[in-house]
Amino acid sequence: MSRFTLPRDIYFGNGSLETLKTLKGKKAVVVVGGGSMKRFGFLQKVEDYLKEAGMEVKLIEGVEPDPSVETVMSGAKVMREFEPDWIVAIGGGSPIDAAKAMWIFYEYPEFTFEQAVVPFGIPELRNKAKFAAIPSTSGTATEVTAFSVITNYTEKIKYPLADFNLTPDIAIVDPDLAQTMPAKLVAHTGMDALTHALEAYVATLRSVFSDPLAMKAILMVRDNLLKSYEGDEEARNEMHLAQCLAGMSFSNALLGITHSMAHKVGAVFHIPHGCANAIFLPYVIDFNKKVCGDRYAEVARRLGFAGNNEDELIDSLIEMIKDMNKKLNIPSTLKEYGVTEEEFKENVDFIAENAVKDACTGSNPRSISVEEMKKLFEATYNGEKVNF
Ligand code: FE
Repeated sequence: MSRFTLPRDIYFGNGSLETLKTLKGKKAVVVVGGGSMKRFGFLQKVEDYLKEAGMEVKLIEGVEPDPSVETVMSGAKVMREFEPDWIVAIGGGSPIDAAKAMWIFYEYPEFTFEQAVVPFGIPELRNKAKFAAIPSTSGTATEVTAFSVITNYTEKIKYPLADFNLTPDIAIVDPDLAQTMPAKLVAHTGMDALTHALEAYVATLRSVFSDPLAMKAILMVRDNLLKSYEGDEEARNEMHLAQCLAGMSFSNALLGITHSMAHKVGAVFHIPHGCANAIFLPYVIDFNKKVCGDRYAEVARRLGFAGNNEDELIDSLIEMIKDMNKKLNIPSTLKEYGVTEEEFKENVDFIAENAVKDACTGSNPRSISVEEMKKLFEATYNGEKVNF
């Protein structure tokens, strides 16, 4: 038996934030990040709409990028004291992911983080609160996914929490919020979205439900990301929807080793998530093509590339990604990113071993050993062809 889970409602389009007025409940806690949502007036709007819905509102502000276990636990404590029946998370991936994790420990105070990281082992939620997610960046799609990424800074490891209980009840995909993104964030989050769609399209749990969402997302990212990066408002709107489609796909099909690798270098070399994915993606396609070349070739054909054989088509796809990276000012190797040879050598065994153990590795189409993972990291460091 297979399962396909999405939020009960997805409200989308400019101004859809207003739908918060219609939520039914007594108390809402609003979880938010560093301040851009406040600066641009969206936080005030959220508060006003929730009050208009008759709710008492409490804020949990200042969730850091790559939220920590500590942030999650202290937020859960605030929730246990305030007892909200709605958790409303607004901002980039970080505050929404943090709020999802807080939700677990709000409903289950005795549950531990070690228990929560077991894939699909989170107990039934929604006994105390429902969850509304409002993304301000166009990439993680956490507003529609069953995932949350939390960092354990003592271990230097990013943990993806995964369970369909974490899929929000309501996603509000209002592109007005995405207009506030600086260009660099547009580039990184946009390539994250492309990675989601491409990994979902070849992942082991892909299905007839996830495939069309992934394919449409790939086409929309190709058509809109560069324009959005250059400041085109309409393209920015489209990207906000495209990333959500990619999220609906990968939340169910799951991801692959591009993400396993990005999770591990993120915590060690402090490379932003989308940027790391963008660097690794071409190399991972090269590695995976032995087992799913037909799938990549199909994507290339849909993108309009012509080729005499599968390899030529796949090369066109890889070249397209590399070209997008270049135009988005994303480096093509870890070396170019600024990771020194010394730093890389010191950490490569650790990150290779942990990348293989990452929750995303299991759904990658081609299985990988620690030794191969190390070679793959080395290829991405130096910019070498993957031929193993
Ligand atoms: Fe991602």
